[in-house]
Amino acid sequence: MKITTEMRNELVSRALDARQNAYAPYSEYAVGAALLADSGAIFHGVNVENAAYPSSMCAERTAVFKAVSEGARTFTAIAIATDNGGSPCGACRQVLSEFGLETLVILINGEGDVTLETSVGELLPEAFGPRHLVDR
Ligand SMILES: [Zn+2]
Repeated sequence: MKITTEMRNELVSRALDARQNAYAPYSEYAVGAALLADSGAIFHGVNVENAAYPSSMCAERTAVFKAVSEGARTFTAIAIATDNGGSPCGACRQVLSEFGLETLVILINGEGDVTLETSVGELLPEAFGPRHLVDR
């Protein structure tokens, strides 16, 4: 999905800012996400690690769950800031795909450079989704 250059830059900035709040004392791999809902609202997320490692949560899913908790269901774009432009893990791709394969995904490195622009559908081809459960 297309967004204005202004909004793209805003999302990049918000993801970089959010990254400052990441709680990643174990991996030291801080991630910040800024998720733009179709309403225009922006939801932030960071990775939140835990001493019991599997209890940790990624920045992308934190942002999606915050947004959905506030009533948002459709998203235009998500910007994700990491040290090296890392892409969303499989679980985050699946969660993002639930709410739209067209959502723009913008990856950003620690210098603030956009390293990739793609879509959820491109990151998760042949995604299992709501359409597979319609007839149940
Ligand atoms: Zn993830």
